[in-house]
Amino acid sequence: MRFSRKRPARTADLESRPTALRKLMVDRDIAARGVRDRRVLAAMERLPRHCFVPAVEHQVAYADNPVPIGFGQTISQPYIVALMSSALGLDGTEKVLEIGSGSGYQTAVLAVLAQSVYSVELVPELAARARSVLAALGLHAEIRLGDGALGWPEAAPFDAIVLTAAPVAIPAALLEQLAPGGRLVAPIGGDGAQELVRVVRGVDGDRRESLGRVRFVPMRGGALTSEVRH
Ligand code: SAH
Repeated sequence: MRFSRKRPARTADLESRPTALRKLMVDRDIAARGVRDRRVLAAMERLPRHCFVPAVEHQVAYADNPVPIGFGQTISQPYIVALMSSALGLDGTEKVLEIGSGSGYQTAVLAVLAQSVYSVELVPELAARARSVLAALGLHAEIRLGDGALGWPEAAPFDAIVLTAAPVAIPAALLEQLAPGGRLVAPIGGDGAQELVRVVRGVDGDRRESLGRVRFVPMRGGALTSEVRH
């Protein structure tokens, strides 16, 4: 099965049951809760989310909750992927940085929505699996192994940055790599409850707003020492 941004997969290419489950997921768990970005809804209706979870989790791939992907990590709840993707305000022209490739599902959504995607993952096995699922679907994203708290300086600046693991505060390097007019979306807080925050870089400084309470796996590695509060 191929999935290409330039040549979208025909519905007939996808198995019929996941197609029905995806439509239900988008209508009931995402659109009905207020996500209006049509490009985000279309991307999530077409992307085969079950390909990003281990085979034993296939039957719950479209459920309204996070799903384990191994190594103590989870693929985020569909609504949260949609909320974060739409909060980035992508129109297809952007260069995007993701921290925490995990299963590669959010990476895939971004690859459909933006011009180019860079993603950093700490766990080698997850990075390898995400790369191979994306390649099998004909989607392109640069995935590299490393500490996402450092960002991807060689490819900066980014029009959008999204964190899928929660630091206690936004790492300084990531704020440095955000372009003028750029948007950064991140869950902020320690273990337990966190706040989903959006930073918008305007001409007269950064504007910061809360998008609600969330629960993500904690960011590990250097984030704990290189953070600043903005
Ligand atoms: N977006 C992913 C969610 C994965 S969970 C998905 O859709 O599946 C968060 C991921 O962040 C995990 O894979 C974890 O290994 C990774 N992570 C945690 N701390 C990190 C860090 N400092 N740098 C890069 N990745 C990190």
